[in-house]
Amino acid sequence: MTTRRRKPRAPNRQSTVQCRKLLRTISEYLDNDLPRPMCAEIRKHLGACPKCELVVRSLKRTINLCKKADVARLTASDKTRIRKEILTAVSRL
Ligand SMILES: [Zn+2]
Repeated sequence: MTTRRRKPRAPNRQSTVQCRKLLRTISEYLDNDLPRPMCAEIRKHLGACPKCELVVRSLKRTINLCKKADVARLTASDKTRIRKEILTAVSRL
């Protein structure tokens, strides 16, 4: 007889430690700067941990968006104007 397995609400301590370890190396992982065995370990964790998989997926998406975005350079006068606008906005708070 099979019963539906419920996911435990309390975070699993083991996975939390692994998650933290993974998130510390995630930027190197995304830059392909990690040695192969570590990449394999991370991929294994991502397959087993939906939370980390989601983090990595959204990070990748963000990085791609940043790469694609044609960011206009601010001129000195733009910077001055924006700084003034920010200060004005802050002073109104
Ligand atoms: Zn995780």
